[in-house]
This record gives sequence, C-alpha cells and structure tokens, in this order.
Amino acid sequence: MSCKVVLAQGISASYREELKNTIKTRNIRPKLVGFLANEDPAAAKYAEWTAKTCAESGVEFELRKCSRNDLENKIVEANQDAGVHGIMVYYPVFGDRQDQYLQNVVDVSKDVEGLHHKYVYNMYHNIRFLDEAKTKKCIIPCTPLGLVKVMEYVGVYNGILPHGNRLHGRVVTIINRSEIVGRPLAALLANDGAKVYSVDINGIQEFHRGVGLKLMKHEVSETTLKVEDVLPLSDVVITGVPSPSYKVPSHLIRDGAVCINFSTFKNFDGDEIKKKAAIYVPAVGKVTVAMLERNLIRLYDYQAQDRASSTA
Ligand code: NAD
Repeated sequence: MSCKVVLAQGISASYREELKNTIKTRNIRPKLVGFLANEDPAAAKYAEWTAKTCAESGVEFELRKCSRNDLENKIVEANQDAGVHGIMVYYPVFGDRQDQYLQNVVDVSKDVEGLHHKYVYNMYHNIRFLDEAKTKKCIIPCTPLGLVKVMEYVGVYNGILPHGNRLHGRVVTIINRSEIVGRPLAALLANDGAKVYSVDINGIQEFHRGVGLKLMKHEVSETTLKVEDVLPLSDVVITGVPSPSYKVPSHLIRDGAVCINFSTFKNFDGDEIKKKAAIYVPAVGKVTVAMLERNLIRLYDYQAQDRASSTA
C-alpha cells in the first residue's frame, strides 16, 4: 500500500516550534483565559489539554470555572482586563441561542476562537483583514483553520497560484455542515478557489466561486447529488460525523485522494482507506490547539499595536 498516513502531531510541530521561539525570543507572556461553565467531561478534557499545550509553549493559561449565569459578567471582566490577551469559552453553555449571544459578548480584540459575528461575517464574505490598511488579519475559527493548515501541509494548496486562489481546480467533499466546523470550512475552502460539496444528513450543497473563479466570494447552491455521486469526483474528502458506526464507503473514494478525519470517531475504515488514498490524516486535534495559540499571538500583537497608536 502506498498510502502515506500523516499524523496531526507532525503537522502541528512546526507551528508549535515557531510559536515557542517567538514567545522566547521576544520575551513575551501572552495570557489566555478559558471559561468552563458546564459539566461536560469532554470540555474539561479539552481544557486540560489546552493547559498542557500552553505550558509547553510559554503561554499563560488560566481556567476560570463559574456558573453559567455568572459567565456573562465574568467575560465582561476579562474583556476589560489589559492583562488578558485572549478569551475562550467551552461550549455548549446553555446549548441554545444564548450561546450565540455569549460569543458576541467576548470582545473582538480578545476572541481567540474567531466566533464573534464580525469574524464570522468576514469569513463568509471573504473579507480577510479587519482594517483598511490591511495590517490586521481576521481571526479564523481554530478547527476550520487547522484543517486549512493540514491541507497546506499535505500539498493540496498549490503554491504557484496567488494567495486566495490556491485551491483553484480542486474538488473537496466535506461530510459535516455544522456551524462550528463544516459550514465555515466549506466557505473557507471555496473562497480559496475549491469546488466544495458540503454534505449533511439532509443533502448536499455546492460552495464555489464559479468557473474561472469569477466571483470574489463563494456562492452556495442546493444540489440533488448524493454521496455516491460526489465522492468519486473528489480530490479531498474531509469527514466529521459524530457517530462510531458511520464509515465513509471506501470503494467510492477516488484513487489517490487525500482523506482527512476530524471527528472524534474514525469515519474511515483505516485498512480499507489505505488501499485507495494517497494521503490519510486520521485526526487533527493537535493542529486545532496550535491554531488557538497562533490566534492568541496575533491578538497579543494587535492589542500592542492599538496601545501604541493610542499613545502616539
Ligand atoms: P454536529 O453534531 O454539530 O454536526 C454533525 C454534522 O454531521 C451535521 O452537519 C450532520 O448533518 C452531519 N452528519 C451526521 N451524520 C451524517 C451522515 N450519516 N451523513 C452525512 N452527514 C452527517 O457536530 P460537530 O460539532 O461538527 O462535531 C463533529 C465531530 O467533530 C465530533 O466528533 C466532534 O467531537 C469533532 N470535532 C473535532 C474538533 C477538532 O478540533 N478535532 C473540533 C470540533 C469538533
């Protein structure tokens, strides 16, 4: 079998190394505050993992536990504290639209997860900078950003093409259209030039900037296609189905495809997929945390830039 299995640890290593060096050589101590206001063991595990990764990189991480009804005031307090550079919340908290409200309570300048409406709107509209002078890049949510970095690492992005068009000609299927990963990811990849088939339990949508990438941002259209139509066309298949029993039908995968799984469950049959795929990435969690730290450094620098311009 000629399939190359690429592990998240290897992909995240170069980002983590760069980050460690930046923190050390610049002698900075960026601080990230994580709010845990639920009893979800998965959130507690993620918090533990974030703490460990941050300690290794030189990022100060503080986990603040509170009741869900106190959370809004606690976020406001952290927004106002100049010693806090980044804020994240372990969702779900209320599990309904109040969570969306809380995402917008986090100040844009401290939102390491890129969940504030301003970032979300800019991402969907392919607006890449916060300012007209183009000195501040928008923050992209960590898991979709991590998946972009995985695709860059394995060579799906074509470096000969200009930034913003590097997926021109690529066909990608994403099996997951959640608001947290699948839909933003479909938009990001389509904005970078790919034709994306976005699959969810109810059907398939196409995200694309049109032939010759004539549009500045992607458009979405409904299709009557089925998974068995789109998988054989796809250069890249990305899965995020939260179910232990779900498996992508390997026989439909194009010979030499790139297959990436971000679900906590193995959505590909490991043995079968290696007979077809050129590259298989079984998990991406470590890249997600590296992106969280990368976003934090970016916000740290923007805050310093803002302070410098307000005292100038
Ligand atoms: P979700 O439940 O919000 O969304 C699941 C998506 O999969 C939906 O769009 C749904 O329609 C689709 N889906 C479910 N069954 C399907 C099927 N049989 N065929 C086609 N589509 C189907 O879940 P989520 O928050 O997006 O998380 C998905 C998985 O990704 C979970 O396992 C989660 O733990 C994992 N996750 C990983 C990371 C990471 O960084 N590695 C980050 C976030 C989520």
